[in-house]
Amino acid sequence: MIVTRFAPSPTGHLHVGNLRTALHNWMWANKHGGRFLLRIDDTDGERSEERFVAAIRADLAWLGLVPDGEERQSARVSLYEARFAELVASGRVYPAYETPQELDLKRKIQLGRGLPPIYDRAALALSDDDRASLAAKGVRPHWRFRLSGGPITWDDLIRGPQRFDPATMSDPVVRRADGSWLYLLPSVIDDIDMGITHVVRGEDHVSNTAAQVQMFASLGAAPPAFAHEALLTGSEGKLSKRLGSLGVAHFRDEGTEPQAIVSLLARIGTSAPVEPVVDYAPLIAAFDFAQFGRAPARFDEGELAGVNAKVIHQLPFDAVADRLPAGMTAAGWEAIRPNLERVADAADWWHVVEGPVDGETADEDRAFLAQAAATARDIDWSADPWHALTGVLKAASGRKGKPLFLPLRRALTGRDHGPDMAALLPLIGRDRAIARLDAAAG
Ligand code: GLU
Repeated sequence: MIVTRFAPSPTGHLHVGNLRTALHNWMWANKHGGRFLLRIDDTDGERSEERFVAAIRADLAWLGLVPDGEERQSARVSLYEARFAELVASGRVYPAYETPQELDLKRKIQLGRGLPPIYDRAALALSDDDRASLAAKGVRPHWRFRLSGGPITWDDLIRGPQRFDPATMSDPVVRRADGSWLYLLPSVIDDIDMGITHVVRGEDHVSNTAAQVQMFASLGAAPPAFAHEALLTGSEGKLSKRLGSLGVAHFRDEGTEPQAIVSLLARIGTSAPVEPVVDYAPLIAAFDFAQFGRAPARFDEGELAGVNAKVIHQLPFDAVADRLPAGMTAAGWEAIRPNLERVADAADWWHVVEGPVDGETADEDRAFLAQAAATARDIDWSADPWHALTGVLKAASGRKGKPLFLPLRRALTGRDHGPDMAALLPLIGRDRAIARLDAAAG
């Protein structure tokens, strides 16, 4: 059973990079009939906010990424305490007493000597008496995880074989002096407890993973598989600040459909082409970490707009009915949809159907439009009135192409461009069409 998790910290709104990570976790679990968990990483009580938890849930729901379960780290601290105590007992976690200023000074001295700024483990040299006297003075320790042994390796599903030498890494702090948790250790404890099989996240976590691989082992568990994705960049190819502000609220305001976001985010940064779809099943079936490249994935809002239009052109009536103007029918939607870049713009075209419309008529077209009004009274409206009307008019007037079609479109819709007239005219209907042609004929 494949189990993935999306583990945001509720300290802000999800941005497009987070949405992408959530999507890939969801797709991978779905592809294998597995489980996708939402884990709210809210151990930082000061920065976590309930409104962001609610927003995360709503954003995932809007995209259609329904978690199979939700967990909150703040509700799980007794488990962290228990496992932490085991690691303290086994010596893998140890107390350290340096102040931030002392650590900073140590780093400066190391750098001044041309050495890497790695924690020197001075705390491990303290005796029980030293610790007791520090405690007596009210100094409370923070806690570090003791890295050990030879190279840390794993075969990353995206980055391939990875290798880190623990001797070049500082023992990471896992718990602060005030008892609060840093992200590294609770995450591993949860991944074990929840049976996570695949950790899919951004490559900014790669060095955390090196430490976490040892944490899994220290807790008697095999590490899950890891897939570290290259980060997103803006269309200009640089890590852009703007991406950090692009989230579901922005996309909704822009009239972007969730299917467009999913279609794009499923594929950018991979060797597979972006395919605008409204049904995610083919994307899920084809999803494969082997297709992901190491180069940053380029997120281009222009490309998104193009994908969005193609998605809208496929959306069924039922999917949009609650956002369409009152009275608009499925036939209306299907006629208008190929012209839309945003669903909200359907209202403009529905207004064209219902009228009134206001078109300008060139003098040289008046007689032709009078002829059209007469023809419209004669033709059969039950099947394909546009072809019936233009067929008769073509033969009768000798016009063809633009001089035949454009005056009719203008008179019937008040516009030079728009949806296919063959689809639109039956919606306008006989009476309104005749009235518009009469009005245009003057
Ligand atoms: N809360 C962590 C973050 O948002 C989770 C990282 C992970 O997926 O392990 O960066």
